[in-house]
Amino acid sequence: MSSTTRWIPKWNIINIEIEGKQIEVCYDEITKLYACPYCTPICKKGGIPEQGSYFFNVDDLKEHIKAHKLSLWIKSKKVEEEEEEEKIKVGEEEEEEGEE
Ligand SMILES: [Zn+2]
Repeated sequence: MSSTTRWIPKWNIINIEIEGKQIEVCYDEITKLYACPYCTPICKKGGIPEQGSYFFNVDDLKEHIKAHKLSLWIKSKKVEEEEEEEKIKVGEEEEEEGEE
C-alpha cells in the first residue's frame, strides 16, 4: 500500500487590483494561500504546481506582482554599457628588505 500525501489545491480565480489593473490570481481554499499567476500559471487551469510563490495575504502578493512587472521592465530595457577608463596609478614599489 502506498499513501500519497499530495496537496490537492482547490483553486479559485480571484481578481485583485494592482495599480488600477485587474489581475487574475489563484486562491486556494484548502491552504488559504494566494498563488502568483506569473510563477505558477498552472494554478489557473486547476493544476498542481510543483513550484511557485505563495502568499498568506493579498498585500504580499500584490508587492510580489509589482516586482514582477518591474523586473520585466528592466529586462526589456537595453543595458547601457559605459566604458570607463581605468586610471592605473603606477606607484613606486617599495621593496622591503629585512634588516638584520
Ligand atoms: Zn511570481
